[in-house]
Amino acid sequence: MNPLLEIQFRVPFDQIESSHVEPAIDQLLIDANLRVQAAVADSNPLLAIDTMTDRLDFALSVVRHVESVATTPQFRAAFNAVQPKASAFYSSIPLNEGLWLALKKYAGTEDGRALKGTYKRFLTKTIDSFKRHGADLDAAGKARLKEIDVALSEATTKFAENVLDATNAWELLVTDEARLQGLPPSAVAMARAAAEAKSAAGWRFTLQGPSYVAVMTYLDDAQVREQVWRAYNTRAASGVHDNRGLMAKILELRKEKAKLLGFRDFSDLVLDDRMAHTGERAQNFLRDLREKTERRFREENQELEAFAGRKLEPWDIGYWAEKQRAALYDFDEEALRPYFPLDRVVSGMFEIFGRILGIRVNEVKDMPAWDPAVKTFEVRDAATGSHLGSFYADWYPRENKRGGAWMDSLITGDPGHGRPHLGLICGNLTPPVEGKPALLTHREAETIFHEFGHLLHHLLSRVEVRSLAGTSVAWDFVELPSQIMENWCWEREALDLLARHWETGAAIPEDLFQKMKRAKAFRAANAQMRQLGFGYVDLALHREWDGKEDVVAFARRMLQPFTAAPIPEDYAMITGFTHLFASPVGYGAGYYSYKWAEVLDADAFTRFRKEGVFSEQVGREYRDKILARGDSEDPAELYRSFMGRDPDPQALLERAGLAG
Ligand SMILES: [Zn+2]
Repeated sequence: MNPLLEIQFRVPFDQIESSHVEPAIDQLLIDANLRVQAAVADSNPLLAIDTMTDRLDFALSVVRHVESVATTPQFRAAFNAVQPKASAFYSSIPLNEGLWLALKKYAGTEDGRALKGTYKRFLTKTIDSFKRHGADLDAAGKARLKEIDVALSEATTKFAENVLDATNAWELLVTDEARLQGLPPSAVAMARAAAEAKSAAGWRFTLQGPSYVAVMTYLDDAQVREQVWRAYNTRAASGVHDNRGLMAKILELRKEKAKLLGFRDFSDLVLDDRMAHTGERAQNFLRDLREKTERRFREENQELEAFAGRKLEPWDIGYWAEKQRAALYDFDEEALRPYFPLDRVVSGMFEIFGRILGIRVNEVKDMPAWDPAVKTFEVRDAATGSHLGSFYADWYPRENKRGGAWMDSLITGDPGHGRPHLGLICGNLTPPVEGKPALLTHREAETIFHEFGHLLHHLLSRVEVRSLAGTSVAWDFVELPSQIMENWCWEREALDLLARHWETGAAIPEDLFQKMKRAKAFRAANAQMRQLGFGYVDLALHREWDGKEDVVAFARRMLQPFTAAPIPEDYAMITGFTHLFASPVGYGAGYYSYKWAEVLDADAFTRFRKEGVFSEQVGREYRDKILARGDSEDPAELYRSFMGRDPDPQALLERAGLAG
């Protein structure tokens, strides 16, 4: 019996093998196709659409997960073999003409018109999504849409390759040791190893993140910094890896696609089902924050020039900022580690949110997992004892596991009808060494809280429609439940529960706590302007660029006001900006979401701030009005129901020390 064929709450991770993957997915694709056909004939195709892929979804999420945390060459090969078939199947659904007709017919029936609440929203969203995928186009329109999608996929793939190749094509070999002054020993060793790997003498610097950041932050020699900075900011802007033409082509194709589907521009297409709804609203949002950040931004830059005692060039900023930071705060992140033993952080977190949200989290031992280091837990409602969901936690790096931290769902249940949810959280946190427990940085503790927030969004969901449950919400809303959790990592009362010295049990000393808070506010306006600038240029390119002005010159003009020093004529950061151009959509027209979500989380947290960071009353409301609701209602409505008003950026400005 193939363990991937049936949805099982007790996922048999101890039995799944690479040989199961292809036969299971092939069979489930046949099954799903039959269910699509059945949906076409169903008098209520909407309900059928919600469930017709559930077995396939489950098997694919288990396979994707094993590939992420316990892969082998055979497993990866099996995963890669089923990926294209699965994505071809999913993208065929909104283009299935029979299903589209059945759906429209149903919408016109008495039953369809009488739908209310979540089901009504599901019908509207499904119809809109079919339309955005071209369901309503005539044959010529559909054919053109397909051509555009193919061309976009090719152009964005090539864009990403050019960035990678241009990055790798550049190096700087330094042979005079005197020129390395200022670099920390770890960066010198890294540069030496990079040279050795190429059988070169001296020290080799590249445009890879760690090398570039070390040079820009620490290297005393301004000439070398300039050389590296210029190389980085003209990547893929000329020669064989030139991305200028591709960028223009990608923008034109996206605009044509948007127009074909009835939208003003690509931002309106992408944002149609997001909380911001239109490109114009996202632009206004950024403009407002920019106005509120600019004064402090100018002050920070004046302070930095006064500190350096000279006019600064773009390649001087990071370097002098680091000198200023060291002069203002003698704060070392590492000093906090002994206060963050992982087990204590996790049990403290369960205690805090158990109290606030009215849940109980208990470790269980009877669920098979993919590695002995994995722990399993169940979440119950504290009042009724009912089983809401279970989850796996896998915290440490392994060779067969991918990098980063993430949350994923395996089963979207319906706890109201006795079917609990199932999910997981993973990280690559500092493992235990030398007989000590795992001692985390403060940032790592925040990461655990962040992923646990996504997980709670899934496990506490009370939405009947599977497609609208849990974390299946708008892209610019999904980080609210995760980011809000990080706020507790900065509250004294909460920290005292989760951060205790692993040997003495002492809380974080007050002076260390104060230093940690002050260091956070350092050059916050510059950090914010940088993010706002990327959001600005992204929306400007997708809404205002007219195809006449050179695309790189246009982007440079947009970015200048957000940059601490005047940028040179050939500045072309944009030709290396993979967020926007390395996939057909990606962060294209969506970069603003980073700030959008920060505004939401900082603002929503003010209720806990005012009414108590452990307030059960606010916690209950937060659980009922946000976490339980998934995408069952417009996120702006959910937000208003919790806050009693629209989001206000003031809390973000205050948190960053930028208010008033
Ligand atoms: Zn997240």
